[in-house]
Amino acid sequence: MRMSFCRRCGRITLRSFIYCPYCGMTLQAGPGMADATALPFERMDAMQAEFRARHIDEMLDVLDSLESDVEELLHGIGAPS
Ligand SMILES: [Zn+2]
Repeated sequence: MRMSFCRRCGRITLRSFIYCPYCGMTLQAGPGMADATALPFERMDAMQAEFRARHIDEMLDVLDSLESDVEELLHGIGAPS
């Protein structure tokens, strides 16, 4: 992590910070508004996609066990006891 100092309050900040977290001073020319908002939304989309994928995997697992349950049931009904 690369450190930097705020020109206004003199505290240590990260060089990647656009604003000083202590006093709000602009530390560097930040990306435009569209760029600044695009990344969080991209991350959110990625997280949602990941969540959906995991959810689908879970549902497929449940479906698999249901399927084998049904197969067992049908097998049980068909077989002479
Ligand atoms: Zn500051």
